[in-house]
Order: sequence, then structure tokens, then C-alpha cells
Amino acid sequence: MTEKLYYEDPYVREFSATVISSVCCDGGYDTVLDRTAFFPEEGGQSSDTGFISDSRVSYVYETDGTVHHITDFKLYGTVDCRLDFDSRFDKMQCHTAEHILCGIIHSIFGLDNVGFHLGDDEVTFDISAPLERSDLDKVESLANEAVFRNIPIRAYFPNSDELSGIEYRSKLDITEGVRLVEIGDVDTCACCAPHVSSTGEIGLIKILEAMKHRGGMRIWMVAGSRALTDYNEKYRNIREISAALSAPQHDTASALSSYMQDAEQIKYQLKLARRQLAEVKAETVPATDGNAVYYLEGFSIDDLRFFANAATSKVGGILVSLCGSEGDYKYVITSKSVNLSAEIKAANSALGGRGGGKPNAVQGSFSASLKEIREYFSA
Ligand SMILES: [Zn+2]
Repeated sequence: MTEKLYYEDPYVREFSATVISSVCCDGGYDTVLDRTAFFPEEGGQSSDTGFISDSRVSYVYETDGTVHHITDFKLYGTVDCRLDFDSRFDKMQCHTAEHILCGIIHSIFGLDNVGFHLGDDEVTFDISAPLERSDLDKVESLANEAVFRNIPIRAYFPNSDELSGIEYRSKLDITEGVRLVEIGDVDTCACCAPHVSSTGEIGLIKILEAMKHRGGMRIWMVAGSRALTDYNEKYRNIREISAALSAPQHDTASALSSYMQDAEQIKYQLKLARRQLAEVKAETVPATDGNAVYYLEGFSIDDLRFFANAATSKVGGILVSLCGSEGDYKYVITSKSVNLSAEIKAANSALGGRGGGKPNAVQGSFSASLKEIREYFSA
């Protein structure tokens, strides 16, 4: 069994220890020390990282009370060890914040915490039933109040007599060797992980998102330095959006909404104008008994349809309306007299095309050149 320094003092960032074993394994060497402050991956929390001597510790896990460190090198004798403490402290902030949120959710709504993930990028916890956003806002507000009260946090191993008299949250049904983490009147929960020693160290607690998940709810949260990073990123974004919309930062949502309404209006007006342009172009089409091919630069397939609708009656044969560019011409082909069903198959095959439609109107694309298309339909 490894002596676990993080139980007594979660703030140990440097310590010395004796190597018990260091054996070759996948990813390096599996190193066991007589004592450690490296917290292993456990209960949804990713493991600590750092150094043992000059050897990088990339992963830490525990089996049967023994903590294993995956190191770069084989290690011997007495070693000096150093945690990546910024990362550890960040996890202590987030983890303790999760206790506070779950404790409050449990006491107000009677819901259980049924899942937890604390990785480098994301913190989530799952609760046993969904809550409304307004309920989550209330929980978040009470959690931050608990931070402002700077409540001392106690982590200890009560004996079984003591334990039987204590009400606490626990994911596991165990009564031996239970470690309790007590956050004043806010929460008491069985947990092995390192936590901060008073709630003030957590800083801001923020619930980001919540989604229904397996009959309950998954909640994304940040706390402490992650909350500050999150705020900074969002602040940078909102500052840019605010400048772009010429709107106060607190008013960007309604400013964006009216900007989008304007954009919709402009889109509609543009569509009308393009339709009018297509119809004006159609007026310039001279009457003919044969086929006619028109290339309309800058037109979309919708514009081609407006053009064809207005011009088809003037063409005795087939009207080919094209847009696009060499190698990929989009077509709308119409006729008042010719059944296009068979015609278009032959044209597609001759001009590297694809597409189809009704007997009097087909739509698609040709990969042939404009010259080839003109020649084909004039023949
Ligand atoms: Zn915990």
C-alpha cells in the first residue's frame, strides 16, 4: 500500500520518496513509490502529472491501494518528486465546486449525482433527473453564495460509530474506510480526491450547459481558473461582436436579432430584384422557331428558372438557359413543344451531363464547354 500524502495535505506539490519498483510497461515504466502526492485517475477525475526526478509522470493509477506512476525512465533509490500543481489546483477547484453544486441539488431537489468527469478540457456531472434552467440558476447562485461565505472544508476518515450518525452522499454503498468531505452546512460526501481547504479558494462557479441524458441530466460547469479563462474567451468574443454591431455589450443579443431581421429583409428584396432582372433579360429574347441557348453570367439556378418561365413561350424549339462556368454549367432546359424526357438523356450523354425533370422542363448540369453545348443544340 502506498502512503497517500494527498489525504493529509492536498497542497503537497513537492516531496521525496523511495522507489519500491520501476518496471518496463506500455508507455514507459510503471513506477511504485513508498509514498506519493500524485492523485491517480479515479472517480471520473483525470490523474495528476508531473516529475519524479527528471522523469515525466504522464499517468497515475491505483490498484489495491498501490499507486502506480507511468514514467519515462526506470527509477531507483530516493527520488525528488514534483506535481504539475497548477493543473492539480485547477482540478481541486472544479472538484470542490462539483461537491457544492451536487450537495445543493441533493438538498433542494433530492436528486443524486450519478456521474462525474473532470478532464483537462471539460467538467461534467450527471444528476438523476432533469432540472429547469431556472432551477439550475438558483443552484448556481446558492453555490456562489457558499463560495463567498468562505466555508472551511474538512476531509477525514470517521470511525464506523461516527459514520453511522452522519448523513452523507455517496455513490458507493461502503461503510469501511470511508473518507468524508464536509463543506459546512452545504454538503457532506464520501470522496477520496483532493479538495481545496475553504470554499473561497474556488472562485466563481458557473453552470455552462445542461442536457437531458439517460433519464437524468448532464451538466457542464467551470470553476476557479477555468471560469476565469472561460470568461476571458467569452469577453473577447462579446467585445468583437459588440463593436461589429455597434451595440453595447449587454445588448448584443437583441442587436443581433434585429440585424438578422434586416438581413432577411435584404435577402427577400434581393430575390425580388433578381427575379425582375431575369424577366427583363427574358424580354430581350427574340422570337424563334428553332432552339436557343443563353448563358447568363452571375445567375443562380433560381434566376434561370425565372428567366426560362418568361422566355420559353418565345422559343419554338428548346430553350437552354445556362449559368455557372466552364466545366460545370448549370442548366434549366424548357420547351413548349418538345418532350424533353428523351432529349435530355441524349444531351446528358453527349455533353457529360446529369439531371432531369418533367417533359417540359428539366434541370441539371453539363461538364462540356459552352461552345460544345451551343453546337449540340444548334444541330
Ligand atoms: Zn470529491
